Amino acid sequence: MNATKKILISGASIAGPALALWLGRCGHDVTVVERAAAFREGGGAVDYRGRVHRTVLERMGVLETLRGLDTGMGEQALLDESGRELLRLPASFMSGELEVTRGDLARTLYEASLPVARYVFGDSVRTLTEHADGVVVEFEHGPTQEFDLVVGADGIHSTTRRLAFGPEERFRRDTGWCVATFSTTAPAHLGLRNSGVMWNDPGRMVGLSNLLGEDGAMLVFHAPGLEFDHRDTARQRAIVREHYADAGWEVPSVLPSAATASDFYFDSISQIVMDRWSRGRVVLLGDAAWAPAPGGMGNGLAVVGAYVLAGELATAPDHATAFARYEERMRPYVAKCQKQGAGAGRFLAPVTGKQVKQRNRAYRMLCHRTMRALFERMTVKAAEAIELPAYGLPTLNRPTVGVFPQS
Ligand SMILES: Cc1cc2nc3c(=O)[nH]c(=O)nc-3n(C[C@H](O)[C@H](O)[C@H](O)COP(=O)(O)OP(=O)(O)OC[C@H]3O[C@@H](n4cnc5c(N)ncnc54)[C@H](O)[C@@H]3O)c2cc1C
Repeated sequence: MNATKKILISGASIAGPALALWLGRCGHDVTVVERAAAFREGGGAVDYRGRVHRTVLERMGVLETLRGLDTGMGEQALLDESGRELLRLPASFMSGELEVTRGDLARTLYEASLPVARYVFGDSVRTLTEHADGVVVEFEHGPTQEFDLVVGADGIHSTTRRLAFGPEERFRRDTGWCVATFSTTAPAHLGLRNSGVMWNDPGRMVGLSNLLGEDGAMLVFHAPGLEFDHRDTARQRAIVREHYADAGWEVPSVLPSAATASDFYFDSISQIVMDRWSRGRVVLLGDAAWAPAPGGMGNGLAVVGAYVLAGELATAPDHATAFARYEERMRPYVAKCQKQGAGAGRFLAPVTGKQVKQRNRAYRMLCHRTMRALFERMTVKAAEAIELPAYGLPTLNRPTVGVFPQS
């Protein structure tokens, strides 16, 4: 597909900017629309493992920048309910071979794609009307425009998916756990410098860590059937407060930050399962298509998926063939990662005291040298479970094509 296409990407987090970078380099006219009023910071740490992730980040030209932003995270101590240390988890467990904060990753991809893509913040697609030669897109604020292709990279609550495929409930599988992350000040006596602690009582986990000098909290709790509006942050902050109101250990000292932190993030731990990721000229990428849940390498899937989608668009005779090939290549990979992510909530916040003890025993076993090597091999194997074609995509931005003024 050599001709220059006018392409709309919805969502400017990880998948959106990663794809914008490739499509812009290929000379397409790329617009990224993001609902948030400005670039979104925040989120916990994300990690990359193995040859496939490394190759894609290297071809994008961001690997060295990301290495410079590595959190350098050390060990994490596992605590019992009273705060007593039970064991120390090695850095490689949680942090892979490259760990950065979500905010640093998103900013790196955004900045790398800026020369070849146009970003519009504070807007969203409102309607999509496809005809034989394109898709007419009405926006909530901006003027109606026509595009050759539309990519939904707008996350687990994707508007693009709702408009093109139907309501979210049809595709979202809630696991029964929720996750929240926010900046906080960890108690000084914990001595968290590039390290973390993880506390549990039945059904609740609180992780506190210090990454690059900044303290942050990650909370995971069991809340089956919890209903909430994913855009109502005030209610989400209240949900966190309610669920941890009677928690012990150091929780009372960090809980107030859930009410005030500007980078507060909250969601259910859910997966998106669809039997197809494209319809006509609309295609989904990243969490919008296949959210794997934490532990399912969603960030790896997002950048690998962006590379494969751009590569198939560059080498297939038409978009329909490209979308079919993208899906064929990505499906087995996504299935493996979703399998890994499915048990994340249960493992991080076991529901009963007995299950917490069983989980702690599993951690203890995994810390043993032989088991540790096996575990690390297993996670790398899942991260590498795709054959990456070379595609020959341009590895540098070409300043003469696809350069747009910022709107
Ligand atoms: C601020 C933030 C913090 C996060 N923190 C964590 C975390 O701590 N732990 C965790 O497991 N996962 C977190 N995630 C999710 C994680 O980033 C994704 O699971 C993964 O990186 C896949 O990325 P994605 O780009 O497919 O989707 P996402 O990262 O979810 O990005 C989707 C993007 O689309 C935007 N968007 C949504 N609706 C619209 C619309 N209608 N129009 C335009 N844009 C829209 C969103 O604002 C967002 O920028 C976070 C996401 C964000 C945005």
